[in-house]
Amino acid sequence: MRGGAPAAGKDQRAPSLSGVSDTFSDLGLRPELLDAVAALGYEEPTPIQREAIPPLLTGRDLLGQAATGTGKTAAFALPVLERIPHGGSGPEPAALVLVPTRELAVQVSEAMHKYGRKLGTRVLPIYGGQPIVRQLRALAHGVDVVVATPGRALDHIGRGTLKLDKLRIAVLDEADEMLDMGFAEDIEAILDATPDERQAVLFSATMPPRIEQMVRRYLRDPVRIQIERAPAGAGEAPLVRQSAYVVARAHKPAALGRILDVEAPSAAIVFCRTRAEVDQLTETLNGRGYRAEPLHGGMSQEQRDRVMARLRGETADLIVATDVAARGLDIEQLTHVVNYDVPSAPDAYVHRIGRVGRAGREGVAITLAEPREHRMLKTIERVTGHKIAIERVPTVADLRARRLEMTRAALEETLLDGDLERYRVVLDALSDEFDVVEIALAAVKLTHEATTGNDADDDEEIPEIAARPDSPQRPRRGASRERVARMFIGAGRSAKMRPADLVGAITGETRLSGREIGAIEISDRFSLVEVPESAIDEVIVALRRGTIKGKKPTIRRDKGR
Ligand code: AMP
Repeated sequence: MRGGAPAAGKDQRAPSLSGVSDTFSDLGLRPELLDAVAALGYEEPTPIQREAIPPLLTGRDLLGQAATGTGKTAAFALPVLERIPHGGSGPEPAALVLVPTRELAVQVSEAMHKYGRKLGTRVLPIYGGQPIVRQLRALAHGVDVVVATPGRALDHIGRGTLKLDKLRIAVLDEADEMLDMGFAEDIEAILDATPDERQAVLFSATMPPRIEQMVRRYLRDPVRIQIERAPAGAGEAPLVRQSAYVVARAHKPAALGRILDVEAPSAAIVFCRTRAEVDQLTETLNGRGYRAEPLHGGMSQEQRDRVMARLRGETADLIVATDVAARGLDIEQLTHVVNYDVPSAPDAYVHRIGRVGRAGREGVAITLAEPREHRMLKTIERVTGHKIAIERVPTVADLRARRLEMTRAALEETLLDGDLERYRVVLDALSDEFDVVEIALAAVKLTHEATTGNDADDDEEIPEIAARPDSPQRPRRGASRERVARMFIGAGRSAKMRPADLVGAITGETRLSGREIGAIEISDRFSLVEVPESAIDEVIVALRRGTIKGKKPTIRRDKGR
């Protein structure tokens, strides 16, 4: 996207390609859709949305290079919803979205359903593994948008239950993933069954030659957008220590709390994507004993000024904000910037972290990423030219150590301050009966509890997730409540793969026993195998080294988990 210099404190709108599409209402969407995005707490379009929505609304084909986390789903979903007829009379869908996995099918169809609620859009996800009867019934009833995995879509086309002759828009989401999974021919067969004049949209995180080939064949003079352009000013933030933590969404609040406990920022700003997230996180952080204040575009100037005054006056430690609300803020004493989600584009990242590390002081930028978003982190690293160190979320033990260290420091300060004589009577009274060291320990305990609260409320373990699918990790056995991850193997029934082959390969190549292997699903072209989260990276590395049934299929972490 167009680059912008990191905010230097002035009220500065994120630059846009055309210079006009700064808000959703500038994009030309109908009121029902504007209401939907407002209700979800989206304050402004992400860069990919800003660039993709206007040409899509005019009917252009589009090729977008964008990874998860950029807001790409809404970038195609909103124009699709704008352009198709709703609650149509016939059973034929007007839009088809092809996605690689059933998780994504569900996710995309939920998003489209939410955006299209006021329009009454009928959205149906169809994927393998779900009873076909239910899908048949829904299809016969009539739908506006079908979100499908290619295999199952082709199945329905073959049965005559999915008819594409009225199709107006076809979207390929995560096209590179679909090709990796061996769906190229299925996709081509599906697209060949659609009307010539339909609009086509293709999103892919990478652009291998096979995608380019598909683009040439199925897209007409597409608009090309890419969100990887280096932002102006990239490489100019040497004083910011940049790190990231990879955590599952469900563990984010706990992980953030722990990171903040260890980092102990004196003034921090935590960025969220939506207003709803700002409100929720503020509440959670206050519940953990932080003095957090929300800041978002739904607040009046007066309310915002009050929040800022609290941070400056040190009656608040944290501000939880959306990008829009934080624009133009200049907070001298800011030490930490936290991205509660990976920003939607590299320049948003640069913009945010430009708020610390000023005037020769070191600032800290922390990003929480979900496993699916690691690619976006890599993109940010590449375009900003700065490494983002992947850190381990502090464990309960780390936290306890850190709290004890705080207690030690508090005691040391008290000792150095002196003026302790008046407490001697207490010591004298107790020393007849107790050892002095025992008395000292009791005093330490009291101090510890008074300064750091009780440890007992924070013993939830946050599972460690490998940041990079190819970084080997030792399996940790015997861990209680072990989390399970799913592995994708690009060979299935048509390669005569049986569960025993997979179990044999895994137990033969790694230290896992058969008991530690979970569910195995074998479909025509690929297989999915559940293994302990802590061992999956090692298993992948080991299996890639060898062969399965004499072949070397694609092996990787399944994206849905
Ligand atoms: P995606 O890249 O499509 O997977 O979207 C990533 C996340 O960003 C999803 O949770 C969306 O709900 C959220 N999102 C999409 N567009 C916006 C926006 N304009 N403002 C805030 N959040 C958004």
